[in-house]
Amino acid sequence: MVAKKPVKKPRGKARLLDGKCIACGGRCESACPVDAVVLNDAGEPVITADKCIGCVKCVKVCPAEAIEMFFTEEEKKILEELAKQGGVVEEDDPEAAQLKVYLAEYRGVWVFVEQNDGEVAKVSWELLGTGAELAAKLGVELCAVVIGANVGHLPEQAFSWGADKVYLMDEPVFTHYRTEPYTKALCQMIEQYKPEIILMGATGMGRDLAGAVATVVKTGLTADCTGLDIDQERNLMQTRPAFGGNIMATIMCDRFRPQMATVRPHVMPMPEAQTGKGGEIIPVRSILDEGSILTKVVEIIRDSKAMDHVDIAGANIIVSGGRGMMGKENFGILEELADELGGVVGASRSAVDSGWMPGDRQVGQTGKTVRPTIYIACGISGAIQHMVGMQDSDIIIAINRDREAPIFQIATYGIVGDLFQVVPAITQRVRELRQSGRGAA
Ligand SMILES: Cc1cc2nc3c(=O)[nH]c(=O)nc-3n(C[C@H](O)[C@H](O)[C@H](O)COP(=O)(O)OP(=O)(O)OC[C@H]3O[C@@H](n4cnc5c(N)ncnc54)[C@H](O)[C@@H]3O)c2cc1C
Ligand code: SF4
Ligand code: SF4
Repeated sequence: MVAKKPVKKPRGKARLLDGKCIACGGRCESACPVDAVVLNDAGEPVITADKCIGCVKCVKVCPAEAIEMFFTEEEKKILEELAKQGGVVEEDDPEAAQLKVYLAEYRGVWVFVEQNDGEVAKVSWELLGTGAELAAKLGVELCAVVIGANVGHLPEQAFSWGADKVYLMDEPVFTHYRTEPYTKALCQMIEQYKPEIILMGATGMGRDLAGAVATVVKTGLTADCTGLDIDQERNLMQTRPAFGGNIMATIMCDRFRPQMATVRPHVMPMPEAQTGKGGEIIPVRSILDEGSILTKVVEIIRDSKAMDHVDIAGANIIVSGGRGMMGKENFGILEELADELGGVVGASRSAVDSGWMPGDRQVGQTGKTVRPTIYIACGISGAIQHMVGMQDSDIIIAINRDREAPIFQIATYGIVGDLFQVVPAITQRVRELRQSGRGAA
């Protein structure tokens, strides 16, 4: 007996509704995967029913609800026939099947190890900690990607921070970071080894490289993630503040691989170092030669300002001031307290915008993310955009004269009072304790 070929359930065709098109510029045309929609000279879409595969994409993108789906006479007959048979015929969806095959080709979690002169940015090790959790959920390897010159010592370090495997490109062409060679190198590795996730630090280098790579490999990139997880379909759930930080959005890239995310330093905790842990090193040769690279590093001039630069992101104790400081000259009382405690002074955006503190001291969504042992917020109300940058501090001390200030909701210790009295009093007490040998900085 010959098995009957299953009948495909008709999906309908798209058609334009009279007078509803607002000539938006052809979103329907761009959305159609089979070129069934073409704009005429008046900017109105013409839909060729014979070409239409009924994917409904044009209907979904149209801002004017100008397109609807309908069944042709022939399709209606098939539907009637199917209804008579009482059989629900499974819809075959070649697009979905194709997508499944494509997604399955990509496996493994990668962390890009950012280094400068062989010194690794700490955020890379933080990301190996996060990457390990994601890799465990997916049941795949955690891999580090090391690109540089004379970086043969870095795989050992990457293993000790959790990597199972290291892809290593160690060539003179990578002596200094340049967008072009690093992008080409990483794209070459992606093409060759097909990872499903790539994590990078949201540093100057990471932001530059991630954007360039995502553009070349045509995938999505979520910048400045504050949370990463895996859903039931193996997709990376990338959470980050959106709409000015007023909501947290979870972004997915479920149709393209690799899924790329950047995370700022200190957002993720440092993992435990595993001394003696080994792993596999995969040396990869690049297909680059110096002659074909347009940018050259002629000389490196260190910024003298950067030499005295205070790294609030790495500080253990931060005394931060906000609009409640009332003026630049008043930050002296915070400097004094920070000096007594061996810390540094930070600021809210209001204080930075007022010109009271330099931009590199700003804590928050558009400033630095910090995770000190002690964070003292003086005259800072606790706007969400500020709190996302400091809420993971071990101890938060808030000084504010408004007892309703939101900062108290996340404070470990709250002092309701005038900071111009409270801060000098704390400084004085710390000084006394230090002088008597009872206080530790
Ligand atoms: C897209 C976007 C990104 C942003 N990014 C950031 C960011 O990265 N970082 C950031 O900080 N903000 C950011 N903001 C701004 C943020 O929304 C707030 O406007 C800002 O954090 C408020 O700063 P503030 O707490 O210093 O000032 P205010 O909100 O004005 O608070 C001042 C506080 O000082 C208290 N005070 C006044 N005088 C005294 C006194 N004598 N003693 C004690 N307390 C006193 C007041 O009670 C008040 O609570 C961003 C906003 C947007 C829209
Ligand atoms: S339904 Fe799909 S295939 Fe048909 S015209 Fe719209 S976008 Fe094109
Ligand atoms: S998307 Fe809608 S409004 Fe835009 S051109 Fe197509 S039919 Fe017209």
